[in-house]
Amino acid sequence: MIPRVRFAPSPTGYLHVGGARTALFNYLYARRHGGVFVLRIEDTDTERSSVEMVTGILDGLRWLGLTWDEGPDVGGPHDPYFQSARLDRYRTVAAQLVASGQAYPCYCSGERLRAERERAEGQGEAWQYDRACLALTPEQRAAHEAAGHPYAVRFAVPPGATAFDDAVHGRISFENAGIEDFVILRSDDNPTYHLSVVADDVDMAITHVVRGDDHISNTPKHVMLFEALGAPVPCFAHVPLILGEDKKRLSKRHGATSVMEYAQQGYLPEALLNFLALLGWSPGGDRELMSRAELVEAFGLEGISGGNAVFNTEKLDWMNGQYIAARSPEALVADVTPFLREAGLLPALSGAPVHGDLPPISDERSEPAWLQRLLTLLQPRARRLTDFVEQARPFLVDDVVYEPEAVSKHLSSPDLCGHIEALGAVLGQVEPYTEAAVEAAVRALAVSRGLKAGALIHATRVAVTGRTASPGIFEVLVLLGRTRTLARLEHLSRFLAARDAGAHA
Ligand code: GLU
Repeated sequence: MIPRVRFAPSPTGYLHVGGARTALFNYLYARRHGGVFVLRIEDTDTERSSVEMVTGILDGLRWLGLTWDEGPDVGGPHDPYFQSARLDRYRTVAAQLVASGQAYPCYCSGERLRAERERAEGQGEAWQYDRACLALTPEQRAAHEAAGHPYAVRFAVPPGATAFDDAVHGRISFENAGIEDFVILRSDDNPTYHLSVVADDVDMAITHVVRGDDHISNTPKHVMLFEALGAPVPCFAHVPLILGEDKKRLSKRHGATSVMEYAQQGYLPEALLNFLALLGWSPGGDRELMSRAELVEAFGLEGISGGNAVFNTEKLDWMNGQYIAARSPEALVADVTPFLREAGLLPALSGAPVHGDLPPISDERSEPAWLQRLLTLLQPRARRLTDFVEQARPFLVDDVVYEPEAVSKHLSSPDLCGHIEALGAVLGQVEPYTEAAVEAAVRALAVSRGLKAGALIHATRVAVTGRTASPGIFEVLVLLGRTRTLARLEHLSRFLAARDAGAHA
């Protein structure tokens, strides 16, 4: 039997990390077993659903590379995959259940039901539908029908108990007495979630339902509907909730929850995918960094833990850093370019149109190879793609801004101006202008002026980047090139001279 699984989002919001993780588990299960991954849009709640949200969900899934085999855009044998386009089918199924006596029309008014509920709750009791309409005689029912009274359709819950074997939680059993005759078709002729989800899972021949824990209490109703329709009951796997670090259900309060926000914050899809896979699932052992193929290879429902999973942003950042570090130079340029462009920092690449506010750079920095060198230099320290923006700025903008902390920490020596001028003279002469030669020249100058090499290096870093931290200074100086380095050293000596003159005045 080829497994058929589905991800069935309601487009009432963007794709959030919990939904993405559910989609991922379904996807991995399908790929692991050569099965079919169906995407079905549950948009029967027309007031809360929107086309924009559908697009957002599809974008999020595509960004993560969770391609579906049947569903929107790709179609399939069970088209349409939008519940809003399948309403007639649900009405037919409801009618079929009424005809077989497993469901019945309910003419009770909303007011009566509300009043009954409030009365019971006022006495501290839970209220369940009292089956008034199940007790109608055929004549009474015919009279309602003849008068054209509006009605909902309720499922007649049979006596006994309903149980299912959950692949995550084991056997779960519910007493049917605790489940009221639930509505499957509303009086406006629209299905409830229970009816549409089961009708579709039957029609689409779904074999495994992998979904959030929050649906466990719905599952006995679904099992009863499958049985009433004479359809095989699929295997259920209810995956644990995702919690924030405070152990509360993950929500906006904890930061980004939509997958595309993670894209904007500079996470790589491979890293987020890997991270989400380990939220509530483990391959055993302490494996953490796993490619998509490795995840597919190792995935199984038995590895899903029953306990809730905690979303640890620090771990995600670490993982993202690992994926960034492993990126090829070409891929890195492609990944980072949109962020540089958005920040207005992209040098005009040879032949490319000018973007952003910067004047076009017509020096070697406009060569793709130079950008590649810059990004690979910054690569080891980056944890998010957005980190490249601030780190790249001093390389792409010639007005270096000295950070106050860098000034107070590394520029306080009163003799510094002379040292920086001397350094400029030395670096103007050194041949060839390579890392090794520049390093030797800087160290020799420090010795000859009785300075610690570190002090000179720190001041040089401030001169060329304005910062207290940067990649290895000699690589930085060579990447910037001699002319730019000398101009920045000169700028610093003027800054220091003005400061010193001010101090003496
Ligand atoms: N549309 C439901 C939801 O978004 C999915 C339910 C299911 O997977 O059965 O929660």
